[in-house]
Amino acid sequence: MGRLDEVATKLSPQQKLHLRYLEARQIAFAGNYAAALPSLTALADQTTDPVLAFRASATVIDLLVAQSRYEEAFARLNPLLDQLPKMKETDVRMQGLGVAAQLYNEAGQYDASTRYADQMVKESTDASSACRGWFYKSDALFESGGTRLSADQLRDGTVACGKAGDTLFSLSFQYLLAGFDMRQGRSESAIHVLQASYPKVLRAGFPPQISEFESTLAKAYWKGGDLASATKFANNALATNANRPYSESTANAYQVLYEVDKKAGDSNAALANLEKYVAAHDGYVSRLSAKVLAYQIVKQQVLAKKLQIDTLNKQNQILTLQQKLNKKAVEASRLYIVLLLIVLASIALWTYKVKRSQLRFMKLARRDGLTGIFNRQHFVNEAELLLQYCRKSSRDACLVLIDLDHFKAVNDTYGHAVGDRVLQRAVEACKSCLRSTDIFGRLGGEEFGILLPECTLAQVLVLAEQIRLTIATASAGDGAPGIPISASFGVSTTAHSGYELRQLLIHADEALYRAKREGRNRVSVIDHPECA
Ligand code: GH3
Ligand code: MG
Ligand code: MG
Repeated sequence: MGRLDEVATKLSPQQKLHLRYLEARQIAFAGNYAAALPSLTALADQTTDPVLAFRASATVIDLLVAQSRYEEAFARLNPLLDQLPKMKETDVRMQGLGVAAQLYNEAGQYDASTRYADQMVKESTDASSACRGWFYKSDALFESGGTRLSADQLRDGTVACGKAGDTLFSLSFQYLLAGFDMRQGRSESAIHVLQASYPKVLRAGFPPQISEFESTLAKAYWKGGDLASATKFANNALATNANRPYSESTANAYQVLYEVDKKAGDSNAALANLEKYVAAHDGYVSRLSAKVLAYQIVKQQVLAKKLQIDTLNKQNQILTLQQKLNKKAVEASRLYIVLLLIVLASIALWTYKVKRSQLRFMKLARRDGLTGIFNRQHFVNEAELLLQYCRKSSRDACLVLIDLDHFKAVNDTYGHAVGDRVLQRAVEACKSCLRSTDIFGRLGGEEFGILLPECTLAQVLVLAEQIRLTIATASAGDGAPGIPISASFGVSTTAHSGYELRQLLIHADEALYRAKREGRNRVSVIDHPECA
């Protein structure tokens, strides 16, 4: 430490933290636990170096135990053990395992203590650590009572600790062997074992260990009937334990003194020692139960924390499920939307088809099947509308009725099919002469009507004549070779007949009748002032 202090200024920040750790340990070993704790606690909780934090935390636990702050010690033990798997260096692991084995042993959790001690024995790479493991293991088995600590195990421990030299733990192991002898009623053997190590224990200078040796020697001598030696070692133990009044060894020493005084008949001294024994024993036992209680409290806290974490996990699971459900709901909604769109599209398509067929039906209903021009009903409707318009706008209109001549003869001579084709050709001939504003319809059989808006009598006569010629030419085409086809025309005008369709039809029909009568294949107008 002195050498480190000399180079302290040249150390890296990381090395300075390690120096702080070593300094704190040094203060602790000097017995000044309270002074060492803050620095070590800060290191344990704040340093980012996991190994240094682990080491500092293990030391903090040692110091807390030394100050009988068991609850805090146990509270720190669990996080320390959580970190243990991450620690790879053997001596760091030994420190952690050792703290766990010792603390569990003190709290009466001998199985847990044995497990960590076993781990130490297995992992140890040096004799000292192996001995320490053997000591914790044997001590736990010894303390748990019964026959769990076998002679074989003690021998293996003895061998392991023999290799370690005179360390604190190899000496403690000797103490354990003596305890084993005592339990078996072999006080002579116990005295032998303890006396052999006693000078080394004194040299080691660790008061709790020295007092344990002394009080057990006192007990063994008492059992063996050597009252003087018993008294001497009991007083030694009390002197060593001057500032540890509630330890097991103090209680044991007073017990021996009480027995000796009783045997000597000094009842006053015996009573005084009995009182001191009871006080020491109570103190020792209450420290013991404090450890057990602390362990149980921390265990409950850990359990509660675990339950809390479990609850949180469950809540998380529920949240995750809800999220999944929401996602599913979104997917489902999307599906609904898609379905809805499909349904809407289907409805639209269906409506369109219905509309289209309606239109087709309407068209069919308005058209003549053979020629494709307006049927009579539609011709009448459209003609009436157009006449209304012409009346309102004071425009002239003319009506032309066309009837094919001797058409019955065509059917009779060439057949009905040829008659149909002749009808179609006649219609095409008419259409070629008409404007888009003219209304053209088949009024029945081989009779057609044309309503011409914006048309004077003179114009209609020219047009009718043109149609007549066209029909006469077309009817001579292929499909009806040599069939002489002609048509007769009856014309009426709004100027003469007014805008009533019915009247126009009557007048045009009269004119047509006249055309037929006058020899057919001609255009005729009802008695008209202009024609007259
Ligand atoms: P007219 O010169 O006096 O008009 O003599 P017509 O033979 O044309 O007169 P009528 O009215 O006696 O005969 C009309 C014929 O037209 C009767 C019918 O067989 C025929 N006809 C009517 N509609 C159709 C049709 O759609 N197709 C065919 N091929 N013939 C039809
Ligand atoms: Mg006819
Ligand atoms: Mg006819």
